[in-house]
Amino acid sequence: MFTEIDVVIIGAGVIGLATARAIAQEKKGVFVFEKNHTFGLETSSRNSEVIHAGIYYPEDSLKAKLCVEGKSLLYRLCEKHNIACKKSGKIIVAVDEDEIRWLDILYEQGRRNGVEDLTLLSRTELKKLEPNVEARAGILSPSSGILDSHTLLKLLYSQAREKGAQFVFDTEVVGIERMGDKYRVDIRDREGISAVISRVVINAAGLKSDEIAQLAGIDIVKAGYKLHYCKGEYFSLDSKYRNLVNRLIYPAPEQAGHGIHWGQGLDGRVLLGPSAYYVEATDYSVDETNKEYFYISAKRFLPFIELEDLAPESAGIRPKLQGPGEGFRDFIITHEEKKGFPGLINLIGIESPGLTAAPAIARYVGRMVYEFFG
Ligand SMILES: Cc1cc2nc3c(=O)[nH]c(=O)nc-3n(C[C@H](O)[C@H](O)[C@H](O)COP(=O)(O)OP(=O)(O)OC[C@H]3O[C@@H](n4cnc5c(N)ncnc54)[C@H](O)[C@@H]3O)c2cc1C
Repeated sequence: MFTEIDVVIIGAGVIGLATARAIAQEKKGVFVFEKNHTFGLETSSRNSEVIHAGIYYPEDSLKAKLCVEGKSLLYRLCEKHNIACKKSGKIIVAVDEDEIRWLDILYEQGRRNGVEDLTLLSRTELKKLEPNVEARAGILSPSSGILDSHTLLKLLYSQAREKGAQFVFDTEVVGIERMGDKYRVDIRDREGISAVISRVVINAAGLKSDEIAQLAGIDIVKAGYKLHYCKGEYFSLDSKYRNLVNRLIYPAPEQAGHGIHWGQGLDGRVLLGPSAYYVEATDYSVDETNKEYFYISAKRFLPFIELEDLAPESAGIRPKLQGPGEGFRDFIITHEEKKGFPGLINLIGIESPGLTAAPAIARYVGRMVYEFFG
């Protein structure tokens, strides 16, 4: 006999945690299976901790809508529960004519997405705000900020548990099989392989979310669900650079990421990054030989930086739906009823702004679950 439960969530990153918090109620059996020994050890703790405003994404995309909604929810959550965060503001800078053209496009895009507080800055206006930054023009985004993501993860975890969600760590989902109107979910832990039966399966497995969809029986190549890994590394700057710049400073965007930006964490540490290059496997080491690339990228608008003051810091990996050179892909957040999998909800390609959007994504998935149970 297998244990019967209502909802299985695969993965205890920020998306699995926020979703568990949103849907757990005493009367519903919500189980979160996580292959690591605790929550939030992968992409959710390997990012820039930036609360994004919602500028970059095409209007009406899930990325745009859930980022703008998630930003407000996140600031409110931080305020209510004393999670350290700072609405530091951000400036996207242009150093040449081509990039100035980009700024206009981004400004319009942001406005269409409902980011109403953006201002275009001339060189003089920019200099007044950030005397140490060298650029020809910029966009000021006052609602961008930073947060202590680890405390956020801890809060989501403890609130989900208080609401009745059960977390099972060191437990990897290794099989999913449709059985009538339910799913048999095979799990592997230290004791071997066992199974539970669940009506709903929510795939929040981050870098492995395409593989989980495949396990459930979806042809991921045909569905366009195959993930590409895109690594982002960070270098830290010497402490003498603290407080030279007040806001987050981003270059006009590169293709795969938002470009090497300047960010000062809540603890005062200054980081440059993340880079963006495609890799085959998850390897979180930082390649020191990339130091010069970081230096050259940042020096364009932060002329005071010296090469010897950079040190390798950390890395994360983006679960991207678009491969090298391909165009925009949106988050996949879908109830797979039409593909013949009622009760299976896939979240695939939850790259940036996934941290910002997490509370809004959780609401969105919550609505799907309530509709399903009727
Ligand atoms: C370099 C970088 C910078 C970023 N910067 C920002 C930023 O500044 N702002 C922002 O909003 N977003 C940012 N993001 C995006 C954000 O970090 C992610 O969107 C978010 O963390 C995704 O969370 P997740 O829960 O989907 O994934 P994860 O945190 O990876 O969680 C997935 C979990 O699933 C578990 N899992 C996988 N397979 C299985 C299995 N078979 N069984 C059980 N468990 C399994 C994993 O162990 C993992 O814990 C950044 C991302 C990167 C890589």
